[in-house]
Amino acid sequence: MSTLLAHRVSLLVTMDSQRREIQDGAIFARDGFIEQVGRSDELPQEADVILDLTGHILLPGLINTHHHFYQTLTRAIPSAQDANLFNWLKTLYPIWARIKPDDIYISTQTALVELALSGCTTAADHLYLFPNGSRLDDEIEAARLVGLRLHASRGSMSLGESQGGLPPDSVVDSEESILADSQRLIEQYHDPKPGAMVRIVLAPCSPFSVTGELMRESALLARQYGVHLHTHLAETQDEETFCLEKFGQRPVAYMQSLDWVGSDVWFAHSVHVNSEEIDLYARTGCGVAHCPTSNMRLASGIAPLLQYRRSGVRVGLGVDGSASNDSSHMLAEARQAMLLARLRAGLQGASLSGEGAPPLLTARQALELATLGGAAVLGRSDIGSLEPGKCADFFAVDLNRLDYAGALHDPLAAVVFCAPQKVDVSVVHGKIIVQDGQMQTVDVPRLVERHNLSARRLLYQLA
Ligand SMILES: [Zn+2]
Repeated sequence: MSTLLAHRVSLLVTMDSQRREIQDGAIFARDGFIEQVGRSDELPQEADVILDLTGHILLPGLINTHHHFYQTLTRAIPSAQDANLFNWLKTLYPIWARIKPDDIYISTQTALVELALSGCTTAADHLYLFPNGSRLDDEIEAARLVGLRLHASRGSMSLGESQGGLPPDSVVDSEESILADSQRLIEQYHDPKPGAMVRIVLAPCSPFSVTGELMRESALLARQYGVHLHTHLAETQDEETFCLEKFGQRPVAYMQSLDWVGSDVWFAHSVHVNSEEIDLYARTGCGVAHCPTSNMRLASGIAPLLQYRRSGVRVGLGVDGSASNDSSHMLAEARQAMLLARLRAGLQGASLSGEGAPPLLTARQALELATLGGAAVLGRSDIGSLEPGKCADFFAVDLNRLDYAGALHDPLAAVVFCAPQKVDVSVVHGKIIVQDGQMQTVDVPRLVERHNLSARRLLYQLA
């Protein structure tokens, strides 16, 4: 039995059903789960570990619903800097084909350290290529070391160029081996219990890189074991054209025909959807990982975030892979989501004060997407808010900093409106991962050195 007390918090943001924001707040947790939340003077004063968070804001850990950790090895590649999705992919596939197991292990650590330092405590990753003996196990092992919760998506690509797909044949695998490995991973790692540190997800990569048959078989396997399904969908206009030409259907209708709708399914992006498709998501419970930075970086478009929220669609935030965001910063993503939703509202003719104008996404709503929204998308009721019974996953930021100067009348808004910061404290399942702004589980300078060696080898085809 081990207890943790975080107290004297200047502002504790619960995200509970009343959205309580508690001044001089405290959290008391035992064995990774929260027992009490309230004012410091109402809670126990003793615990095995005590964090005095005077002068800090404390929030529920952020939840990242879409990423490709390995892409931290290929950020800002010159030939992929100024390309849209399909050209960007075609440029990067041959570089990614050189990835080895150790690259997966190192890049997972890099991405998770970045995420942890930006407030994230749970991350979903989508690994869909396994060159040179790489396995999802390499990623799971690295996540255990860093200490974040992981939804490890067993991705796949089976439709090579010679079969009419987008990826080169060298990076696709046989559907038989994909399904066998998917089953192995579920049986070995998937933990359905509350407080789970690892869950497995089945995630064929996209309509243009796998066959409909693999989508169908993956859905059957996932439902047999009660694991969730994830893929990229309706990301670009090119994808829509591809689906119409190849399958005679729009992307969402295509997925519906493959039995890929339901509360166990979430899609990354879903930028190019119409009102009927949004209604379908709401009716069937499909979730969306909204990735505003990536959508801007690749000029994919602006997802209808406010319409999703109005229709009751579950929406979370995703930083997406680091080759189309070049960062794994969850607070930055919340800020981008807020700003991009406002831009879309503006482009649709809403004036800031006009009668009947659609409301603008607020800082609190952006943080709601990054916490409760992400938990809903991943199908978890044990994370996303700070309440008794939930996991002790939270982060804190010292408010006394240059970047927040002049904004302390509303510290919660400062966290989203002001420049995205690195956190000072992060706790996952009651364990301190970041303290005084320093990672407690990983030697970061050594990691950066190893990561840069790997990245150089991939780019310059070194042995
Ligand atoms: Zn992606």
